[in-house]
Amino acid sequence: MILPGNAIGVLGSGQLGRMFAIAARQMGYRVHTFSPDFDTPAGQVSDLEITAPYDDLDAIRDFAYNVAAVTFEFENVPAATAAAVEEICPVRPSGQILHTTQHRLREKTFLRKHGFPVTPFQAITEPGQIQSTGILKTAGFGYDGKGQVRISSLDQAQSAWDSLNTAEAVLEELVEFECEFSIVAVRGAEGEFVHYAPSRNEHVNGILDVSVAPFDAPKEAIEIARAVLEALNVVGVLCVEFFLTKSGKILINELAPRPHNSGHLTIDACVTSQFEQQLRAVCGLPLGSTEMFRPAAMANLLGDIWQQGEPYWFKALAKPGVKLHLYGKLEPRPGRKMGHLTATGPDAEAIVREARAAL
Ligand code: ADP
Ligand code: MG
Repeated sequence: MILPGNAIGVLGSGQLGRMFAIAARQMGYRVHTFSPDFDTPAGQVSDLEITAPYDDLDAIRDFAYNVAAVTFEFENVPAATAAAVEEICPVRPSGQILHTTQHRLREKTFLRKHGFPVTPFQAITEPGQIQSTGILKTAGFGYDGKGQVRISSLDQAQSAWDSLNTAEAVLEELVEFECEFSIVAVRGAEGEFVHYAPSRNEHVNGILDVSVAPFDAPKEAIEIARAVLEALNVVGVLCVEFFLTKSGKILINELAPRPHNSGHLTIDACVTSQFEQQLRAVCGLPLGSTEMFRPAAMANLLGDIWQQGEPYWFKALAKPGVKLHLYGKLEPRPGRKMGHLTATGPDAEAIVREARAAL
């Protein structure tokens, strides 16, 4: 057990690291972050911000010697980096989990091998292998809908392949879904398991737009989430993204071995946030209650709303109960996640949409 007062290291320095650091400091831990950037969302609220490339193994070892355990908020940390840390202190979730889930082909192959329901897919290493329509996604480094392209007729195969600029991709069937939902789940060092209420998620241009919880997902989804965390032997938080098809079937879309955007509403709506759970799991503490006080909805704030200057925050905050979260990012680029709004209560979804519209 790693007790308060110890330092926890975070690989990556975005908003997930920031919200983790805030939760950790609330419980009396120190936080060190490691990323190639300066004045980062996580670094701004940490005790120490280390700036170095992820493949600088000397800097990584130095970082690891000064913390009691390391977790991550950025999946694309190189395997060699996680391995170097693991020689010095515990990494939770492990480098092995990172390796599997940072690569779509490895992740989907793992899921299929273990009998989980996944969207039909095929590995693609040259454009000639594209013999059906669907969504082509790079195997590595995709996020927020980046690194994927729809193929609606086969004559687009070559240009789709060229646009991805990759050596390895996955071609997935286009799922005609009724909706998307996700389950954020947590597994402790002794194998204890807790999960949050499922969220229903709406995406716009491949980026999460609004999440609403609780969503009445098919019961089997919880058992699938539990089995995924067990199969991967996760110690930490993992989110399973699902499609609910028009015929009522569920398919796993992808895994995120960390707190997830659809779980941000747990900060304002649940007894224990997903970030505090990450801390508890990493430190070997008992997991907290995932109980929800009230229904909740979250709307992302992308850089687009800065186009005419600083948004009028008072417009959103004037709606009673709306909570504003900003990540301290210095540059509001279009499509970049800058913050989010949360509302709670039975009409949370309407409130959070109105609040964002008011901005
Ligand atoms: P990312 O890592 O960018 O989140 P995802 O694979 O989750 O990548 O894709 C982002 C979004 O694109 C999904 O949430 C979904 O809305 C849409 N999408 C992705 N794959 C499919 C698919 N096979 N069928 C239908 N929609 C899809
Ligand atoms: Mg996704």
